Amino acid sequence: MFSRSWILRCCRYSLRGVLALTCLVLIFFAFPRPKPLTYVEKGKYIPKTLLYHSVNDNKYSQYDYLYVSPKNFESQIKLLSENGYSFLFANEWRFTDTPSVIITFDDGYEDNYTEVFPILKKYEARVTVFLITDMIGKENYLSSEQIIEMHRSGLVSFQSHTVYHNDLSSISESDIRYEFEESANSIEALLGYRPSVVSYPTGKYNNKVSRISGEYYTHGYTTDSPEYVYDYNSSLIPRLYITNDYDISDFARLIR
Ligand SMILES: [Zn+2]
Repeated sequence: MFSRSWILRCCRYSLRGVLALTCLVLIFFAFPRPKPLTYVEKGKYIPKTLLYHSVNDNKYSQYDYLYVSPKNFESQIKLLSENGYSFLFANEWRFTDTPSVIITFDDGYEDNYTEVFPILKKYEARVTVFLITDMIGKENYLSSEQIIEMHRSGLVSFQSHTVYHNDLSSISESDIRYEFEESANSIEALLGYRPSVVSYPTGKYNNKVSRISGEYYTHGYTTDSPEYVYDYNSSLIPRLYITNDYDISDFARLIR
């Protein structure tokens, strides 16, 4: 049914296929693949950097991704606390001997006081809130009095999310400098210290933004996922975006 030459030809092609596949496997394992920032390095832990906005059951924005329910947020803080995570502020990014977490809130919504602050006090958890300084005291945003009370508790570090929440990658250098300088001035006038950390509005940045950021701030936070960032750059620290569709087992997997 099959001629001898046909069988020999098949064997030759199969052998070539196996050899090619073996070479591909060897090449794949021969080159070390970069590891994302979520890995443990040389026995040291890299802080898990988490990004939240609003913690509220009553949504005042159409954007679902901005919200986490108070119930979910508390169960996440409880899990971190019970598993011995230390809560670092955003300016304390460093390799640690034990698991650590940097919890950040962008925009400075009022529920960071009404919903988040009581949970922080209950678990002695520390977080960083990035303020849009022009929005302080406006509807749905933190008031000066609330910011001062949270700051005095020692549980909240307030840092800059610029003055007007502009897309920094599309404005002039002088406007970028204004956003960095003036937001720092406002926070210093309110709380008596100069912020050393910025988070870029809507996560938008480019080389110019990160270079100028380094002149004003020791750390800059993005909304990039740590899963795809391989090198630590203090002006471009990625964060895990926490949304309300994560249940506690999803969250536990994220912070593992
Ligand atoms: Zn924002």
